[in-house]
Amino acid sequence: MSYKKIYTQVVVIGSGPSGYSSAFRCSDLGLDTILIEKYNNLGGVCLNVGCIPSKSLLHISKVIKESKNLFNIGVAFSKPIFDINKIRQWKDGVINKLSSGIKNMANQRNIEVIFGNAQFLDKKSILVKNGDESIIIFFENVIIAVGSRSKKLKYVPSDDFRIWDSSIALSLPHIPDNLLIIGSGIIGLEMATVYSSLGSQVDIIDSSHELLSHLDRDIVNIFYNAVKKDFNIFLNSEIKEIVPEKNGFLVSRNKENNVRNTKLYNAILVAVGRESNLESLNINKIGLEVDCNRFLKIDKKLRTNISNIYAIGDVTGQPMLAHKGMHQGHIAAEVIFGKNHVFNPYVVPCVLYTDPEVAWVGMTEKEAIHNKIEYESAVFPWNFLGKAISSNFSCGMTKLIFHSKTRKIIGGSVVGSHAGELLGEIGLAIEMGCDVEDIALTIHAHPTLYESINLSAQIFQGTITDMLNLKK
Ligand code: FAD
Repeated sequence: MSYKKIYTQVVVIGSGPSGYSSAFRCSDLGLDTILIEKYNNLGGVCLNVGCIPSKSLLHISKVIKESKNLFNIGVAFSKPIFDINKIRQWKDGVINKLSSGIKNMANQRNIEVIFGNAQFLDKKSILVKNGDESIIIFFENVIIAVGSRSKKLKYVPSDDFRIWDSSIALSLPHIPDNLLIIGSGIIGLEMATVYSSLGSQVDIIDSSHELLSHLDRDIVNIFYNAVKKDFNIFLNSEIKEIVPEKNGFLVSRNKENNVRNTKLYNAILVAVGRESNLESLNINKIGLEVDCNRFLKIDKKLRTNISNIYAIGDVTGQPMLAHKGMHQGHIAAEVIFGKNHVFNPYVVPCVLYTDPEVAWVGMTEKEAIHNKIEYESAVFPWNFLGKAISSNFSCGMTKLIFHSKTRKIIGGSVVGSHAGELLGEIGLAIEMGCDVEDIALTIHAHPTLYESINLSAQIFQGTITDMLNLKK
């Protein structure tokens, strides 16, 4: 068999946010770059079956909930009517628009995009196969950005129409009357928000004892009290049996004191975490090292144990977030170009796009206690916040964590509407090394939600006048 052969400076494998960001940065730095993608669409999980479609559907959920909430203050709408085909078309339109935007940007940068599955031949070449076509690419450097996929559970039967992973759930195959979600992490909670707003009765079950266990309880309690009206969350629960039935699955789970509970669900979504996409790459052949969870090991320059092979994004493990991967993508390109850059952020922000949203960056109070850090927290409840009250969503809280001695901000968590947007200021303040005066003395616009960050800092300082000053 004869193979087409290509020589290049950099090959990026995977066109998700990490991959396309690094390919674009490489090209902008003048490096001859090729981007490989095994599916026909660019953009990876984030764009096709992750961040973007989930946020499109969550936007609909938010509007539905907000219009329902208006009923209590004298504005009534009739019950929403769902045209699932139209919703699906709109969501797919958003994906296609962004995906073709990536393709255009690759073209404008003269990046060659090759569709096909890549696998290593040795440390300097890969084979890309697409149907009958095969290409060997010889490279100086390669950036692995092959991402991750949903974990499966062995005891859950397969059935694409009724047993879902997040990709199937986002394709809106149907709206089940009863949906069981296994896993109360970010994806499980976001999907519960979507499907409950579209009319499904949703139960989430999880074996862990605490919801969002890494977050502070005061933040989680506000979140839980708000969402428990929309869906059920059963913690400490384990599935004992799943029996396929004509119109769904009879699921038995243990309740407290080992009492069994059995219920019929029309569909089950498994959302128990993600694993790396390394199988097809043939990494054993070249001796790439992985950690105990099979994510690629990298150093601060994003190099693997082989000096011309870099790895970025989900395939390098937690936090598995698009913005982490994009940032890594830039650093890897710059290191290959010869800059002395490292991936060393103080913080990576996280947002749970439910209703209310939960957002956190830097240290939580829990972590500060665990790490024996001398800290003080300042909490501003949104029922004192003019913008929140006047917008009919005063259920919320902004919480900042300051170092007691340096008075620098080291973390922040927000629960409430638009919490994710408020995180920008907190993240920047931490990266810039701001202390409490910097935040408390910066004039924030009134009435806004981000004012709550300024007011939290005033609580820490003891200068607050918008609520009782306990430090007076
Ligand atoms: P991916 O996006 O997984 O892309 C990897 C690409 O590599 C894929 O296109 C794949 O086809 C390709 N590939 C794999 N193997 C090969 C091969 N051998 N040859 C060629 N190509 C290959 N993150 C956020 O920050 N915010 C969110 O709101 C958010 N929401 C999410 C919602 C859901 C439902 C899910 C599942 C994830 C969400 N994430 C979110 C996580 C985010 O999608 C990932 O962190 C991000 O996509 C990782 O980017 P990546 O480039 O590392 O990998």
